[in-house]
Amino acid sequence: MDGNALAREVRAEWKVRAARLTEKGVQPGLAVVIVGDNPASSIYVRSKAKACSETGIYSEIHSFPENARQDEVVRRIQELNTDPRIHGILVQLPLPRHFESSKIIASIAVEKDADGFHLYNVGALVTGNTIFPPCTPYGVMKMLQKCDIPVEGQHAVVVGRSNIVGKPMALMLLQKGATVTICTSKTRDLAEHTKRADILVVATGKPHMITADMVKRGAAVIDVGISRMPDGKLAGDVDFESVKEKAGYITPVPGGVGPMTITMLLCNTIEAAERSSAGLAAEHYR
Ligand code: NDP
Repeated sequence: MDGNALAREVRAEWKVRAARLTEKGVQPGLAVVIVGDNPASSIYVRSKAKACSETGIYSEIHSFPENARQDEVVRRIQELNTDPRIHGILVQLPLPRHFESSKIIASIAVEKDADGFHLYNVGALVTGNTIFPPCTPYGVMKMLQKCDIPVEGQHAVVVGRSNIVGKPMALMLLQKGATVTICTSKTRDLAEHTKRADILVVATGKPHMITADMVKRGAAVIDVGISRMPDGKLAGDVDFESVKEKAGYITPVPGGVGPMTITMLLCNTIEAAERSSAGLAAEHYR
């Protein structure tokens, strides 16, 4: 599954929607808030800004030094909450240790929470009334859909239970009618579960931990993990070379889920602008 090609296809569709809005005088706008100088975060933020400009989305980067105070950042987010040029707000994670990420996320207006991490949006996802699906699992669902991989009635196994990938991934698969198993570092005999997966989504950050003997023949294997190896190359959680011989579908790293994650951020921003332009005010969500 070529994430770059699929991302291009999805972006082309949404670029048209962004242009339509811009013609009506509402250019979709995304604000990215970054605190500190984590090199990986800076790269992600720059690539998000570039993707925005290629899709016709206005973007702003709000950078704070590592020693910034939490209340300064909250104040900036509150300003962005009422800024009519901004429809989506994203806080680049991880934040420095002295920040309480949950408080920062909670300060984002629900209707601008393009990452879908606000507790209200998490609750909406749990109850099946999703407002902003979190970008990485949203990207995985879009890949499955674009590749005509059925979800309903399939056995999906998600390895990892983080709030940003594993848990929302499992909920979105469940919502589409899959029978879902969630595995964690505490799971006994992981392979017994992964071998029964029609759809296997792996998000652990443990390079190459899924080997061919852990995969059912013909399964769709989605590798969310990204780790930087000592030689500087990126590696996924799946041993691509061996698993590709057995899987029916497999995503590479890089060039798999990564480009789709950024794409879905663009989609959420455009959708937020569409809702705003249609007069769906903040009260609509409460
Ligand atoms: P976290 O570290 O928050 O979560 C990792 C999860 O994997 C935990 O739930 C952990 O279990 C589980 N885990 C770890 N080791 C094992 C094991 N041996 N067997 C089974 N489960 C295990 O990571 P994230 O979810 O934030 O990210 C996961 C990976 O995905 C990372 O490599 C990250 O860089 C990448 N990522 C990629 C994105 C993309 O766009 N492609 C976007 C976001 C993340 P437990 O809870 O028990 O500790």
